[in-house]
Amino acid sequence: MREAAPDSRYGLFTVDVEDWYHPLVKDPGRWASLEDRIWPSTLALLEALESAGQHGTFFVLGCVADRHPDLVRRILAGRHEVACHGYDHLSLQWIDPARFRADLSRALDALRAAGAEEIVSFRAPYFSLNQTTAWALPILAEHGIRIDSSVFPLRTGYYGDRSAANLPHWRDSVYEFPITLPSFGGVRLPLTGGFYSRFFPPGWTFAGVERVRRAGAEPMFYIHPWELDVDHPRIAVGRFLTFRHYLRLERTREILSGLLARGSWRSLRESFAERTDARGRTGTYDAR
Ligand SMILES: [Zn+2]
Repeated sequence: MREAAPDSRYGLFTVDVEDWYHPLVKDPGRWASLEDRIWPSTLALLEALESAGQHGTFFVLGCVADRHPDLVRRILAGRHEVACHGYDHLSLQWIDPARFRADLSRALDALRAAGAEEIVSFRAPYFSLNQTTAWALPILAEHGIRIDSSVFPLRTGYYGDRSAANLPHWRDSVYEFPITLPSFGGVRLPLTGGFYSRFFPPGWTFAGVERVRRAGAEPMFYIHPWELDVDHPRIAVGRFLTFRHYLRLERTREILSGLLARGSWRSLRESFAERTDARGRTGTYDAR
């Protein structure tokens, strides 16, 4: 049964549109030799969203847009937001401002060439925006980016910043949508997508989303197309990365359909448009 949600209560549905190997293999020089599988999995995700009448933000890698401009056009045709995930899937921690500027600019050019005329949202690979990489924010603003969603407000051993705010807020001229986490007794839990939603039982993700919603904030979910592609190739990348990447991919469909049945979802851009009149106001959810 579909649970009733007030019109003003949405979740933020976000997709990082990258192929299975982008988070596994750092060297772009190796990518051309790896199997390209991004179309069917992204299409499955789009169809799941659309048959539920929902919309999301799709952070597309620039190299994917160059290779598959038709995929960008398909996302736009579904009235989703096309946003930027950088060009070569570079963590902000690996690069300097000059390299970031060049990568961002190349990514935006690729997305525009594919038909995404106005791009206002960005997500850094590996949620790599933290206190040491905040130099990226003015560079985003220079390029017309108004919305960032690159902060994971919990240190997990892989990424994240546990001192970061857990609710959307302005950072100079860029509006930050962190990966808002549910808080249980003051403890933030990572129940919002990706590896964590496959690690814990699906019911935990549903409960986490509901907890954020009930507290008056918009929950955020993030997913990658390759998480639906349960048979994608296995390559040797070390035990830690193998565990995170391949763990229980078969759970993804259950999580996705459960979330889509449990409430309304929209893009960051739609949520932002509603918030601009209340600049600086971030709701009532005290997520500590
Ligand atoms: Zn990514």
